[in-house]
Amino acid sequence: MTKPLPGKKLSTRLFVALFLTAILVLLAVTGAVVAVSWTIYEHGAEETLVDQTRASAADLAGLDEGQMVAHLSSTALANTRITLVAADGRVIFDSDYEASTMPSHAARAEIAAARSEGTAVMLRASETAGSDTLYAATLVDGSDDILRLSTTRSSFAYYLGNLLPALFAIMALAVIASLVVARVITGKITTPIVSIDPEQPLESETYVEVEPLLARIEEQKLKLVEQNRQLERAVTLRREFTGNVSHEMKSPLQVIGGYAELIESGIADGEDARKFAGLICAESQAMRRLIDDVLTLSRLDESASGRTSLFDLVATAKVVLVRLAPMAAERDVRLFLAGPDVAWVLGIETLAEQVVYNLVDNAIRHGRAAGRVELDIRCSAQDVVLDICDDGDGISPEAQQRVFERFYRVDPSRSRETGGTGLGLAIVKHGVESMGGSVTVGQSALGGARFTVRLPAANGV
Ligand code: ADP
Repeated sequence: MTKPLPGKKLSTRLFVALFLTAILVLLAVTGAVVAVSWTIYEHGAEETLVDQTRASAADLAGLDEGQMVAHLSSTALANTRITLVAADGRVIFDSDYEASTMPSHAARAEIAAARSEGTAVMLRASETAGSDTLYAATLVDGSDDILRLSTTRSSFAYYLGNLLPALFAIMALAVIASLVVARVITGKITTPIVSIDPEQPLESETYVEVEPLLARIEEQKLKLVEQNRQLERAVTLRREFTGNVSHEMKSPLQVIGGYAELIESGIADGEDARKFAGLICAESQAMRRLIDDVLTLSRLDESASGRTSLFDLVATAKVVLVRLAPMAAERDVRLFLAGPDVAWVLGIETLAEQVVYNLVDNAIRHGRAAGRVELDIRCSAQDVVLDICDDGDGISPEAQQRVFERFYRVDPSRSRETGGTGLGLAIVKHGVESMGGSVTVGQSALGGARFTVRLPAANGV
């Protein structure tokens, strides 16, 4: 199961991120515009006042005090207070107040600065909220008097206050526009992801970044399909196998049942009864062999056939030849073993013994009576090879393709007669492969069948 980020949808995250970015940019831009426009306004006001002051001072140049007062009294500048201050700080003229009642202005910052620098501009916050007073002072040419012009200018807070309604309206529109744009962009970005078809991941048009994930999904999908196919095949094979096993068991049971009934009914007596008992015995042995082989196969299917170890395949072959010597003698078959003294193999010893046993047993049973069976062992760097050849009729190329199938027999009745279960070669193939080896069938130089088993050699031992 995937673990979704707590309460987070990609589209929601994207939308919020885009929206917040837009708002932040908007606030930053608005702030910058307001600050710049304020600075321009502020400088503009200062420059205008300084220009006005200089122009008015120029008008006063060369006039005496009385002429100056007369000139200033007739001058009216909108929203501008005019003050003329003498060198000692005495106020000679003031457009807004009675000059004679005013205190000395010598210590006023703008007056002092103008006296030393010629022209000065100062800003003082007024008692009245919402406005500041801007003072510009300059020396009047040809005299020690200083002309001062002052005007009230709105404070920044007031300036901003005036702007606010317009700012809010613009912000509201911008927020709405941001919401819409963020929504549209979110949709455009998420669509290629949301619209991926999990059934056809590689068909979907999507981002390069997502492609490895889609390739992996496709790979997993194919793997799953293959696994399902294998599972279905395994189920079918198992069902077939179960059917075959039941079928193989029926015939010996029928024979056993039939003869047992004859003995029970008393029809068979004496010699017959003993003969029938012998047949029952033979059939029950065939059933036991079948059960043994079925159990061996099912153990192999569960890959629980024993522990891997080092063992000598030559010794194993010798053990098998000794075990099968009585059977070979019965058919007058001679057994030969050629090869090195030892051949170390890495595998499961009991399983290897079963493999060699089944192959030699087949060679004796299916080979020629009074014939020969030859075992030949060779060692190479990678593996140990065992050839088992007989001089019987051999196996046709078509049958060679199928001999390793469960219950496949070239001649079913002959196989049964000789005590075969039809599972011997299936056990051989499964067993050899479970040890990492292989088995092949072909024509032997003796004229019969040749089975070649390769098992991994125990290198460096
Ligand atoms: P079975 O119990 O019948 O021997 P196997 O699985 O061992 O079953 O072998 C399958 C079939 O392959 C046999 O029935 C037989 O027809 C054929 N076969 C196996 N070994 C030989 C051999 N050495 N020569 C000829 N035919 C063989």
